[in-house]
Amino acid sequence: LRLSVLASGSSGNATYLESGPGTGVLVDAGLSCRRISARLAERGTSLEDVRAVLLTHGHSDHVCGVPSLVRELGIPIYSAPGVGEGLGATVVEAGEELRIGGLSATFFAVPHDSATYGVRLSGGGHTVALATDLGEVSGQTLRWMSGAEAAILEANHEPEWLMRGPYSPRLKRRISSPSGHLSNRQAAEAALSLASRGLKDLVLAHLSEKNNSPARACGTVKSVLRGAGFGGVRVRVALAGHATPWIEVGAPLEAEGYAYHYEGVSGAARLFEAE
Ligand SMILES: [Zn+2]
Ligand SMILES: [Zn+2]
Repeated sequence: LRLSVLASGSSGNATYLESGPGTGVLVDAGLSCRRISARLAERGTSLEDVRAVLLTHGHSDHVCGVPSLVRELGIPIYSAPGVGEGLGATVVEAGEELRIGGLSATFFAVPHDSATYGVRLSGGGHTVALATDLGEVSGQTLRWMSGAEAAILEANHEPEWLMRGPYSPRLKRRISSPSGHLSNRQAAEAALSLASRGLKDLVLAHLSEKNNSPARACGTVKSVLRGAGFGGVRVRVALAGHATPWIEVGAPLEAEGYAYHYEGVSGAARLFEAE
């Protein structure tokens, strides 16, 4: 089982997973078919490999590419109730296991300002959990993500930057509310809990361009993990403009305090593995 976050943030979200040739699944399609295709090409794969699309919620940064994907590929769309009905999605109840080729997927509800779900995906004996638009990480959310070897988790904002930043007071309240978006600190606390339950790879996602930076998000989470003896967990940041490198789910943990080496990679690639 391997994955790449193709794009992340308020300008568009999509994650690609596969557990062998021809088993590809997209979670969210918040960018055009053409752009999704270009990001898949960055990873050496293509739209032909996509068998289904799962939707986390109905915000346009997660679904705006769905109509063109359906037109181009005619592949099935799946969502939990209240998300994708208007887009022709087949509705699957939260907590119910959906089989797509070699993968199984289960939606679980998370608190956000519309009906929103995280997804737990398993294939080839490995498990990934994704939760990218949520105001808080409840015990129930942690239970659904528990045991995942790789997690894609929102780290939206640094609270101080949000408060001092350019948004209206109303928008600031919405983002920091329990049905808004996760802060770096909230992400770090959740990461710590998941690290003690087998997490090896963490991708921080849906970073605000105005109220966060890859270095701040990664630094906050890394230092909390390292302080608790989980310095071997690989922490990366998903960006708006590039697909992440492949993450092979279940790859063994690095030695404690492992630092990444950046030889021969571009500035953008460095950000995925910033210390
Ligand atoms: Zn979003
Ligand atoms: Zn949202």
